[in-house]
Amino acid sequence: MPAPAEDPRRRIPRTDALLALDGVRAATAALSEHVVRGLVRAVQDRARRGEIAPEQVEDALLATLASRGASSLRPVLNATGVIVHTNLGRAPLSDAARRALVDAAGYTDVELDLATGTRGRRGAGARAALLAACPAAEDALIVNNGAAALMLACLALAGEGEVIVSRGELIEIGAGFRLPDLITAAGTRLREVGTTNRTHLADYEQAIGEETGAICSIHTSNYRVIGFTASQGPAQLAPLAHEHSLPLIADLGSGLLRPDPALPDEPDAATALEAGADVVITSGDKLLGGPQAGIVLGTAEAVARLARHPIARAVRADKLALAAVEATLSGPEPPVLQALHADPAMLRARTERVAATLADAGVPAETVEHEGRVGGGGGAEVPLPGWAVRVDGALAPLLRTGDVPVVGTVRDDGCLLDLRCVPERDEERLIEAVLEARARLGAGAAGAERRENENAQVAQEEH
Ligand SMILES: *Cc1c(COP(=O)(O)O)cnc(C)c1O
Repeated sequence: MPAPAEDPRRRIPRTDALLALDGVRAATAALSEHVVRGLVRAVQDRARRGEIAPEQVEDALLATLASRGASSLRPVLNATGVIVHTNLGRAPLSDAARRALVDAAGYTDVELDLATGTRGRRGAGARAALLAACPAAEDALIVNNGAAALMLACLALAGEGEVIVSRGELIEIGAGFRLPDLITAAGTRLREVGTTNRTHLADYEQAIGEETGAICSIHTSNYRVIGFTASQGPAQLAPLAHEHSLPLIADLGSGLLRPDPALPDEPDAATALEAGADVVITSGDKLLGGPQAGIVLGTAEAVARLARHPIARAVRADKLALAAVEATLSGPEPPVLQALHADPAMLRARTERVAATLADAGVPAETVEHEGRVGGGGGAEVPLPGWAVRVDGALAPLLRTGDVPVVGTVRDDGCLLDLRCVPERDEERLIEAVLEARARLGAGAAGAERRENENAQVAQEEH
């Protein structure tokens, strides 16, 4: 009887031996020990299941460690042409904001007045930057995000009373989150008025009563109602609210502080405040172009009521967001506004250059017209004229899963790569990513062909 073959699983390197490898020890400088041990176990398990040979364990482990950072979030090139892309982290920060984040990451004087050595007002710098950028506001408060700002405003100004909102403005902001649910979850009652398409001033007026705590105007930031419509903005609602000594909350969503000629229909904080809104709410990471934050601008009295409410502490902004908001406002134009204001002729020249470089390298690529979008929280349906490089649609999944992930748009059989949101300094990386994807596609196709030939051969032999 032949001797039983040795169980190959016995040749799988032991954990201690793997942990002692130079390459593994170097990687543990950047990763915690339990993470490294977890990765070691995962690779050993692959060998136990027979997915890799015991001799491949070392290399597989080193490859895993090389591609693994302490955070699993990876930088992505946004070639969709959608500026505020919620799935891609909304606003990319300006260099000034990135530096401010890093500086604030350690100990920082967020609540200390270094000149006097006494406690300082948290976020004083960010507040001052907001007031400088929007002089129509008497005071400002920064909280965790726009949703938190709306909840806080309703709680602080209306409490358990009613907030009057038009039925045309009860919106879902994404991922199943609905503003009416947010308002009522905090204990404030919602008083809906009007209809989906038409709400008149008289609808608000008739709803005002003993229970009314505030009137709220919400920007329909991600859709448009067109046709037979009527709605009341802050300019119409403020006189009515004030006549009844009620505060007016205006949730603008998008984050424009001043009117922007590129988006003539987009509401902005200065205009809403000048129209008489007591509190204006915007997001930090939409058109403002900063970090996730809820920006509250308003009268001194209204903002003070929000700041004093116990929930303010539960939704306060962290030091990183405060640093980045201030730097976004005080530094040069952030990437979001650069992308919004991008000159179509410049975009076309860049796109043609990239397409030509790819074509020279043997990748079929052409320049096609492609409209960009503002994206989440602003300019719903407003087309931004632009261009895209059109490459083989089969490249799309490979681009997404490459070393430098690139997300484009698949249309018909093509993958469209829009440069609006790709900074010029990343153009080289984009080109390299396409070349790499193309090489993988070629290898995959060649591999498939080889396998097919092999199968054909096997089939022949069987016959
Ligand atoms: C996006 C949005 C919000 C929520 O803001 P977040 O910062 O995402 O929490 C609230 N209201 C409107 C109108 C919005 O567009």
